[in-house]
Amino acid sequence: MKAAFLGLGAIGQPMAAAIVRAGFPVAVWNRTAERARMLGEATGARVARSPAEAARGADVVITCLPTSPDVESLLGGEDGLLMGMREGSVLVDCTSGDPSTSRRIAARLAERGIGFLDAPVSGGVSGAEQGALTVMVGGDPGLLEHVRPVLKAFGKKIVHCGAIGAGDALKAVNNALLAVHIWSAAEGLATLVKAGVSPDIALDVINASSGRSNASMNLIPERVLTRAFPRTFRLALLDKDIGIAAQVAREQKVPAPLLQLTADLFRVAHGELGEIADHVEAVKLVEQWAGVEIA
Ligand code: NDP
Repeated sequence: MKAAFLGLGAIGQPMAAAIVRAGFPVAVWNRTAERARMLGEATGARVARSPAEAARGADVVITCLPTSPDVESLLGGEDGLLMGMREGSVLVDCTSGDPSTSRRIAARLAERGIGFLDAPVSGGVSGAEQGALTVMVGGDPGLLEHVRPVLKAFGKKIVHCGAIGAGDALKAVNNALLAVHIWSAAEGLATLVKAGVSPDIALDVINASSGRSNASMNLIPERVLTRAFPRTFRLALLDKDIGIAAQVAREQKVPAPLLQLTADLFRVAHGELGEIADHVEAVKLVEQWAGVEIA
């Protein structure tokens, strides 16, 4: 099976490298060509000059861009994906996308006999480097079985979630929960530090008790207490994900005041901290408001 990979950002780059390592012929394209050139040099992937050129001859085309509208923008035009993709091939979109745009993309591809799966991932950059991501897939289960060998290069747990858009919805809700946990843990710890409890002791107890989460067990000890704040997943992208979760809740007529409040808080944090800040840096805003450092 021949593959193409478009979008060599923080997570796309190790995912593409994993597909090359698994032995599939891969063509890569990235908006900033230098990133594609470097990956080509490091892995032997074929470097394409346009989305159409990457997609030509590919059985499966994988995209991993910030948003679904970014993916949609690559479809049309002389150099677009639709010029390169052949009937019978499949677009697997690993973007953490939004269900309604995914459905629109799928409909456009279906007119040309091209399949579509929304297939966002979780597990972070380290999961991608280890080929151990979770992949949540929406769309035709038969298509998933067809492309599964390629997805297995970077995915350890590959789950069919439902119709087109189901993977996007699940990913958005998962990330909204991540955001709730980061923000609530930060508020709780800021409170405890001000009340005279050391954050190490607070986390030791919380992590042996029912208030624990991935934020309290991993993110805060490794990234906040150390003040390392490594940049692995942009706050701007988490802001986008919570917005999608809140939007899906509205569409489904589920009252979700907590998700909406979290979406609002992360929008403020994104505005304050900028485009390149990591998602865990949202804690800095809680610290600033509280006038205390969780350290
Ligand atoms: P980055 O911001 O690191 O990279 C984004 C990539 O998309 C870059 O290659 C960028 O190109 C390209 N790009 C951006 N806009 C466009 C556009 N309009 N047209 C074409 N290419 C574009 O993002 P990540 O790799 O971190 O994330 C990608 C997706 O994966 C997102 O949806 C994110 O939510 C999701 N995700 C990320 C995780 C992580 O840990 N990083 C974990 C799980 C999911 P250029 O090089 O030119 O800027």
